[in-house]
Amino acid sequence: MGPADFKWLSQNLSGPALLVTDLTGHEDYCHDATEDSGTPSAIVFAEYESDVIATLRFCAAHDLPVVPRGAGTGLSGGCVPSRGGIVLSTERMKQLEIDPENRTAVCGPGVITKALVDTAGRFGLTYPPDPASYDESTLGGNVAEGAGGLRCKRFGVTKDYVIGLTAVTADGRIIKTGRQNGYQGFSLGDLFVGSEGTLVVITQIVVRLIVAPSPGNTLLIAFDDPADAARTVSEITGSGLIPTVLEYLDGDAADCSNRYEKHEGLDRVAAILLIETAGEDRSGQTGTIGEICRKNKCSYLRVESDPDKAERLWAVRRNLSNAMKAIAKYRISEDVAVPNSQFPRLVAFVAELNEASPLRINAYGHAGDGNLHVNFMSMSGSAAEIRLMQDGIGRLLRKTVELGGTLTGEHGIGLAKRHYLPLEFDGPTLHFMKRVKSLFDPTDLLNPGKIFQKNEKL
Ligand SMILES: Cc1cc2nc3c(=O)[nH]c(=O)nc-3n(C[C@H](O)[C@H](O)[C@H](O)COP(=O)(O)OP(=O)(O)OC[C@H]3O[C@@H](n4cnc5c(N)ncnc54)[C@H](O)[C@@H]3O)c2cc1C
Repeated sequence: MGPADFKWLSQNLSGPALLVTDLTGHEDYCHDATEDSGTPSAIVFAEYESDVIATLRFCAAHDLPVVPRGAGTGLSGGCVPSRGGIVLSTERMKQLEIDPENRTAVCGPGVITKALVDTAGRFGLTYPPDPASYDESTLGGNVAEGAGGLRCKRFGVTKDYVIGLTAVTADGRIIKTGRQNGYQGFSLGDLFVGSEGTLVVITQIVVRLIVAPSPGNTLLIAFDDPADAARTVSEITGSGLIPTVLEYLDGDAADCSNRYEKHEGLDRVAAILLIETAGEDRSGQTGTIGEICRKNKCSYLRVESDPDKAERLWAVRRNLSNAMKAIAKYRISEDVAVPNSQFPRLVAFVAELNEASPLRINAYGHAGDGNLHVNFMSMSGSAAEIRLMQDGIGRLLRKTVELGGTLTGEHGIGLAKRHYLPLEFDGPTLHFMKRVKSLFDPTDLLNPGKIFQKNEKL
């Protein structure tokens, strides 16, 4: 379609500048944080719900795909315009109102997660779900992906905080869901959390907030054997302790971070744990965790109670994605999750994969919740190595399901994992999922080809 074909849309948006048909300078809108990309015919930067409605009606009338987008930090290709069409960005919808009395917030989908946390903090409240990308990702993207985060073990994930949603359907109708005011009928809101932009476009989100917990201690613990670190994770969670954060990094991931920014205690380690204890029981938890780590032969243990110094330790975890990007020519990050008791077996499997492969394969993740991000990195980016990656990913996903785990702990299926969906879901379950998709989007224009395979019968 040429620019002239978009005349109706341009006239029906709240401002003509919200429509972009020349992509020069907007190349970022062709991809997310994965290696996948596509070329849209246009981008709409919605500012109001009416812009979303106009775009969806235009796309329905012209049989054009529409791909909702937040900040583009997704790790499963969810907002990639793989079949062209219009990228519908909700990043400018930044309305944010805190209701301190009822401990809720009403947010536009474009609110950056950290902006909500910071604003709620002024009222002594917080919004706990904190993906590592929380200073960039939007709430719309968090809800659409069902995002998790570092504090998920103790405080839960996005779906545990969403209490109301307003959304626009593929044919431009507004749906309101919510459990703020009692009976809600079918739980449509729960259906939309994690729907990856394939069922509706979210235009408003109501979340519950909690009283901000007091900060705990931060612990950095190193091990000479990854099996000791993985066992420590299992024993900490198995003992009934629930730290606020419990992150695992294998030796190679720690090394990547340490080369990016030097940290004491990280030279030649086989694995590390980064833990924040619960604030209300910081000394009790610190003591017990220390005992479990020493029993499992940790080689280094540092406890930090000063928030500024602790913040510097968390940079080890936060730098990881950039550190790996700087090293590898081509990288795919998987986000499998298994029951806590199976965590050591999954870690051992990744180490075996790495040993048997010319690729660099490492792992880190929100271990407290059984999440492990497994990174397949090719230094050459050659076609042969990319094929090896796909083979390794297949083996990892099969092993995860065999261990009772899931293909995606938090990043979603998107484009990246749609071929593997039948590994986790049986035929009847997939059949009814597809029926739900075709009920909301009978012509398959809303983020087509995501979750389900391209041209698959819905
Ligand atoms: C360095 C880094 C660290 C990360 N850490 C974590 C982590 O700890 N936990 C975690 O869960 N994820 C993590 N992620 C992945 C990513 O940040 C999350 O999936 C995040 O929720 C995506 O938000 P976004 O605004 O960038 O969405 P986008 O990438 O723009 O879109 C993601 C999906 O949401 C849909 N979408 C976006 N807005 C809307 C809307 N208004 N209505 C309907 N659908 C919409 C899109 O179509 C797409 O399917 C990380 C990513 C990076 C790069």
